[in-house]
Amino acid sequence: MRGAGAAFFVFLWFKTSTYFFVMSEIKCIGILTSGGDAPGMNAAIRAVTRSAIFSGFKVMGIYRGYKGLITDEIVEFSTANVSNIIQRGGTILKTARCKEFQTPEGRQLAYDTLRSHGIDALVVIGGDGSLTGARIFANEFNFPIIGLPGTIDNDLYGTDHTIGYDTALNTIMECVDKIRDTATSHERLFFVEVMGRDAGFLALNGAIAAGAEAAIIPEISTQTDQLAELIQNGFRKSKNSSIVLVAESPVTGGAMGIAKRVEEEYPAYDVRVSILGHLQRGGSPTACDRILASRMGAAAIDALLDDQRNVMIGIKNDEIVYVPFSKAIKNDKPINQELLNTLRRLSI
Ligand code: ADP
Repeated sequence: MRGAGAAFFVFLWFKTSTYFFVMSEIKCIGILTSGGDAPGMNAAIRAVTRSAIFSGFKVMGIYRGYKGLITDEIVEFSTANVSNIIQRGGTILKTARCKEFQTPEGRQLAYDTLRSHGIDALVVIGGDGSLTGARIFANEFNFPIIGLPGTIDNDLYGTDHTIGYDTALNTIMECVDKIRDTATSHERLFFVEVMGRDAGFLALNGAIAAGAEAAIIPEISTQTDQLAELIQNGFRKSKNSSIVLVAESPVTGGAMGIAKRVEEEYPAYDVRVSILGHLQRGGSPTACDRILASRMGAAAIDALLDDQRNVMIGIKNDEIVYVPFSKAIKNDKPINQELLNTLRRLSI
């Protein structure tokens, strides 16, 4: 009996100490933004920092993405560091592209820097490339990382929306509204190029929101000649001006490529091109992006407390979900056919 009691005590001690080991495993969380900047990244930095401090973690801000891990640009963050930033576009942590992180030697340096600061978990805010890097690093060093989808392109699988997408969409809508004024006055055909070389969400939903006539998107450009289809359907028959949103693309050549073709093949049209470029990334985030970033930032800390590792925080039907990195970055997010049909029907 005494033996059984002792065994039970040892078992209890082991269980409790294991529990405390797991709970106390993570004490210090590093946070970085990487790749293309997106409005709402600051709101996410704020949410991660404040939720982490609320739960008793130490927070370290890492500047310039993975580059800052290699060059050791790291400072401790308090709640004051993230005051008055929720409304600001860009990222206070700066962002960068870092080739060195794509090599094992570069990642080893990054790991050494993390250890030297006592950082035992990372929150990475970025797009497809940044989360690919996060996945490789997490597997290589068995290091806990939570990803937040920060990209205006909305091209990460497993989440309905990414941080920055709504703001960029609104910016595109406002620009196209303005272009329409001049397009109508001169009775011109305008091709407006928007970002999203691998995903047509900005072009398609931007076209619907701005009442444009059509969108030329990468998901379709390899199978269909979208321009020929548009011309054949007589997309201008009931209008004296038209606006077509074109996603940047090496396949179609973007708005310039499409306009060149129209000039050569359909010279009757008075064609103009407008490339919106980097202004799509800037500006104060919309309420939707601020709320999304705040929820996702808080969820990143919940995920670490729940012992989740190597997942991206997503949102599905307004509920927070955990998406394994492997799923988020390896799968193409399909375009909703209903959106395509809606645009076609409304542009007659
Ligand atoms: P985004 O995150 O916006 O898609 P990038 O594709 O430029 O932006 O990726 C951002 C950074 O992520 C890169 O500069 C690099 O440091 C890192 N990264 C991207 N792909 C990999 C990879 N295969 N291995 C390691 N790191 C990567």
